[in-house]
Amino acid sequence: MSLSLTRSLQQIRFATIHHSADVGVPVNLEQLKKRLASHNERHKGRNYPSTKGEFGYKFLLYSFAVAGDGQWLQTQDLKYQLYHATDWYKGTESSNQWGFGILLEGNFEVEQPTQGQLESAAQIIYKFNRENNTRLIVRGHREFAAPRFATACPGEFMGLSTDPSSKLSWIIQRVNNLSGVAAPAPMPEPGGTFATATAILNVRTGPGTGFPKLGQLKKGQVIRVTEQLKGEPVDGVATWCKFWFNGADGFVHSNWLAAVSVPETETETGPEPETEPQVSANFVLGAGRRRHSDPRRGLR
Ligand SMILES: [Zn+2]
Repeated sequence: MSLSLTRSLQQIRFATIHHSADVGVPVNLEQLKKRLASHNERHKGRNYPSTKGEFGYKFLLYSFAVAGDGQWLQTQDLKYQLYHATDWYKGTESSNQWGFGILLEGNFEVEQPTQGQLESAAQIIYKFNRENNTRLIVRGHREFAAPRFATACPGEFMGLSTDPSSKLSWIIQRVNNLSGVAAPAPMPEPGGTFATATAILNVRTGPGTGFPKLGQLKKGQVIRVTEQLKGEPVDGVATWCKFWFNGADGFVHSNWLAAVSVPETETETGPEPETEPQVSANFVLGAGRRRHSDPRRGLR
């Protein structure tokens, strides 16, 4: 199976840090390439979906890889939506769809990443930010992963982005220092309800049509609703839904959202593709939700 889903560089918003869990940080590029070739062969044997292999690795899920001495190389074209972060169902918050993976080779459950690896991860992200005029949200794989794909990646020694003393936080702070800017707003804590837009929807900065537009959701785009609150009534319904949108709080009216149920029972240990989220057509997020057949009415 070959991967067909692509995206533009302008749509990329996340960088996900990974380790490989293979013990032994490769000391240089030559050693790293040997390791990558072995990952690639292993994935090939498991019938991972493949890319065209523009950078020589058709079956790798990561877009960059970093050796112990800090030398790094690109391993996939950034246009591909790859199954590295096990978070496909998260829609607008999915790093599979809207992010890329950086592999710091080694097993950071049992060994430390090198300073060269941390610095290069920061440089890769900084370079992407600068070239694309963006500010990527940086997290470890385990902070993106769906509950049923719980993982230790990128390991205890890398730590969590929420711990300011972790090595992962060092990378994030280093990017901010290089950029001369403060960190963007973090993603909210896990929880909330997943929902999909049933029409094209304007995302606003507050719960009413008078608030400025932050952007738009496409029909079918999935969001994680962190709060439902009362706002401007639309067709007699006052419920608006708050969610995290590109580093800010975004609001959409509940009339054009349908809940998405996320299956939690699978015990898949191999790669994704993950199960598509199930949309329950009759689920009502806000009380008194009405059905609308005119899609233009979704643009609240
Ligand atoms: Zn990982």
